[in-house]
Amino acid sequence: MIEKALAQKVLHEALRTGADLAEIYVEDVVSLQLRLDDSRLEQAVRGADRGAGVRVFFGNLVTYAFTDQLDEASLMNAARAAASAGNQSSKTQVIDLTERKSPLHYPVEKPFESMSVAEKAGLLGRMDEAARAVGPQIVQVTAGYLELRRHMWLFNSEGVQVEDDRHFTEMRGGVVARRNGTLQRINEGFGGRVGLELLERNDAIEKIGSMAGRAIKMLDAKPCPAGDMTVVMCNGWGGVLFHEACGHQMEADFITKGSSAYTGKIGQQVANPIITAIDDGTIPGRRGSLRFDDDGTPAQRTVLIEKGILKEYMWDLVECRRVGRTQSTGNGRRESYRHMPMPRMTNTFIDQGGHDPQEIIESVEKGIYIAGMAGGQADISKGDYVFNATEAYLIEKGKLTTPLRGATVFGNGPKTLLEIDMVGNDLALDPGQGMCGKGQAARVSVGQPTIRIPRATVGGTDDSAGS
Ligand SMILES: [Zn+2]
Repeated sequence: MIEKALAQKVLHEALRTGADLAEIYVEDVVSLQLRLDDSRLEQAVRGADRGAGVRVFFGNLVTYAFTDQLDEASLMNAARAAASAGNQSSKTQVIDLTERKSPLHYPVEKPFESMSVAEKAGLLGRMDEAARAVGPQIVQVTAGYLELRRHMWLFNSEGVQVEDDRHFTEMRGGVVARRNGTLQRINEGFGGRVGLELLERNDAIEKIGSMAGRAIKMLDAKPCPAGDMTVVMCNGWGGVLFHEACGHQMEADFITKGSSAYTGKIGQQVANPIITAIDDGTIPGRRGSLRFDDDGTPAQRTVLIEKGILKEYMWDLVECRRVGRTQSTGNGRRESYRHMPMPRMTNTFIDQGGHDPQEIIESVEKGIYIAGMAGGQADISKGDYVFNATEAYLIEKGKLTTPLRGATVFGNGPKTLLEIDMVGNDLALDPGQGMCGKGQAARVSVGQPTIRIPRATVGGTDDSAGS
């Protein structure tokens, strides 16, 4: 944290060469990461990182300088470096900084210090034992723990002063089951913007046991049939498809570049009318939840698509200024003080629909049910996607039957949105494991109810299924 008087001085310096807006972003990050691999604690890393970035706006020209020192000389140097792109004398003045409050609170009920490092490592050890106890087929187990506190302060020359103290707790597990030459890997995690109460609300031992059980079951999986067929996608983590193949294209930078399928489509039908999609940065405890975004804008809930009609994009400050829009949607996010913000999703999901999930499966004569997905690939600016299922089942005459290996689903996000013809009433967000990469890493949540895609291209049996 820096004093208000120093922030004002730095902002004055940043404005000296004619900028119309200047900002200081200060960050203090501490973390602890534990990783257990093959029954051994491989990693126990404590991290600490602090610094500040000065951003200066000359109309649409934006310059940035950052420093890992928070003393006056370093901050003034950063301000001069960022301001050096200008060549006029100052017209803009710093308006008095007034701290803005947020009605949003994400309380930490059990602080990180309430468990010792040894206790945290002990939990990873018990996860390892629990997974191996499920069966001799489990040949590899990993477990990981992360606690992260990212405290940010932001000041800008329009008088904005905000603070957001973000705590995250995360657990990850990975199991590999092997029988003869067949391998089956499952990796899952859970977490949120919470303290160690996460571990009381979720049973890590039970979860990794369930993963091991499913990995063993999937050893009996049959190769996935290829071709065009009906695909039913699970609730929760299944929402990663919407995030990657559609959500990114609703981020304002893709919109203003004109590279998105959704450019110029506000008010038009872009999805089946049974689909409503939302980005909500205000959900208690979620990974993507914020009090203020990294531009200093209050977090908000934004309806992106309402009953099939495109309503809004996700904006940050830079893109708002580019098009002369007054209010950002609070989607400006940055990986750290070393980065400038860009428009990013927060917690993004397809909203509740009207069908019982069982009814959706029963409606399928022949198709596949995707119960779990590993990462996939999507061209985030066009929405073409390939997702690999870690867990999938054949649907025959309305019933889940044979487990399938190597199922991949191909398609185009904007096209798929128009085609989805059933949306379940079982909305869930993912367990809290989503990390989005768009040049910078950002914690996000994804979600959806069970959905049905009447016709999608399924293919490519990769019989190793272990990579
Ligand atoms: Zn993403």
